Amino acid sequence: MGYEVNRFQTEPDEELICPICSGVLEEPLQAPQCEHAFCGACIREWLTHQPTCPVDRNPITSNQLKPVPRILRNLLSRLQINCNNSSYGCTALVKLDMLSSHLQECEHNPKKPVHCELGCGLVVPKDELKDHNCVRELRNLVQQQLDRIGEMQTEISDHKLQICEQKRELQLLKEYMRSMRVSNPRMREIQSEMENADVVRWAASLQAARVTRWGGMISTPDAVLQAVIKRALIDSGCPSHIVNELMENAHERRWPSGLSTLETRQLNRRQYENYVTKRIPGKQAVVVMACENQHMPEDLIMEPGLVMIFAHGVE
Ligand SMILES: [Zn+2]
Ligand SMILES: [Zn+2]
Ligand SMILES: [Zn+2]
Ligand SMILES: [Zn+2]
Repeated sequence: MGYEVNRFQTEPDEELICPICSGVLEEPLQAPQCEHAFCGACIREWLTHQPTCPVDRNPITSNQLKPVPRILRNLLSRLQINCNNSSYGCTALVKLDMLSSHLQECEHNPKKPVHCELGCGLVVPKDELKDHNCVRELRNLVQQQLDRIGEMQTEISDHKLQICEQKRELQLLKEYMRSMRVSNPRMREIQSEMENADVVRWAASLQAARVTRWGGMISTPDAVLQAVIKRALIDSGCPSHIVNELMENAHERRWPSGLSTLETRQLNRRQYENYVTKRIPGKQAVVVMACENQHMPEDLIMEPGLVMIFAHGVE
């Protein structure tokens, strides 16, 4: 649709008028032969109904439309037009080719986005500001976010369910492999690879611990204490095939020669700082896994790892 003629300061020439809408040409295009010019939107719309020039009925299609000559464009761009917001008090008179940039900045545009200054800080169209209610807007926003959180929670619980199922399948697979390994050496290899990977993954998932008082080490934990630590190991996801072995290695009778007596322990004390120690969650106890302590002397580590329980001093 063209621009209304009465918005212009002086009456535009006849050749600048669109024969279809009778407004001043907007983004004009012309017919190929007769060179009649129309607003781009007007003539495209027209051609969807009949494939002829509206002035002289020459046959045309929308592919054949072409830009109007530069002289016509220049004439158009120099016309002075009032602002779209003149009824809202804008008195600006601008050249037609400056109209769109003026509209972006026009202070009288009722839809100009403004920041609410009553506290919510949301951006609202200027004319909606008088009915704007911060609390209502924010409540809507909160509701939208609650809905979104709800959706995400559903997604998360779906995923958890899937993970549970996959774990169960994996467990079955492992049991299957265990039962097969007796007769099949390759199966034995694969299974031990998988088990090693489990151990490495579990060890990496534990938090690094810092032992501040190595002297607080309990070298002969009683059965109750051992049961408590074992429970914590299981809860931390410790692979089931090493739980018992690790717990055996919680007592000095199983420790390697570098740790086996009070005397050797005191001798080796300055080496302890080099251990990679991982916290058994919630307990004054750490695991020293062989896979993470290959840098230590052989007489200070054990496969698959050691459990060290302390009276205090684990961070
Ligand atoms: Zn038109
Ligand atoms: Zn024509
Ligand atoms: Zn304006
Ligand atoms: Zn507000």
